[in-house]
Amino acid sequence: MSKNSLREWIPRYLAMGFTRLIPLRRGARGTYKEPKVKKWAVSETEPLTEQELIEYANQRGTSGLAAVLGPDRVAVTDFDKHRGGLDIFNDWFTQHRPNCDECSALPVVKTGRDGRHVYHNISDDCITNEDLGYGEVKVRNVLIALAGSYTPTGLYEYIHNEPPHLRAIPTINPYEHGLAIQDKVIQR
Ligand SMILES: [Zn+2]
Repeated sequence: MSKNSLREWIPRYLAMGFTRLIPLRRGARGTYKEPKVKKWAVSETEPLTEQELIEYANQRGTSGLAAVLGPDRVAVTDFDKHRGGLDIFNDWFTQHRPNCDECSALPVVKTGRDGRHVYHNISDDCITNEDLGYGEVKVRNVLIALAGSYTPTGLYEYIHNEPPHLRAIPTINPYEHGLAIQDKVIQR
């Protein structure tokens, strides 16, 4: 992410509903992502302002943006390639998504490890972080690298519905749209 494009991404992500953005720095090879700030948990800090984020973007070594999920309703379903998530993602993408108006509008991101992130707004406060076996639903106090970021494992990039063409991330119940597993919750 160049300095110019990083500055452009900040207002776009804020408009999408990611209320807590964190700058990432170039990390050592083998590390996943490295925040430029020491503390990022919702309970520990106030969110950075747009102006503060732009100042970070202007600094040397800033390589991307992460979002802290939790205070807002944006969630990310993470399909992990190394846990078989790409097959599950491809089934969802080719079978469910084309026939669903809401899911057709969800942003889809290729991660630095060739996994897939689907961004969505959750309709239900009860939904929390879930291990899906092939990935995770990430809802609260989780740091995720956002599309446009260079991380030590690779570039995160949109493969569908890149903003600003997207006005707001659609709100869905992920259990009804193949982005979470209802049984996981019932078992808890
Ligand atoms: Zn759907």
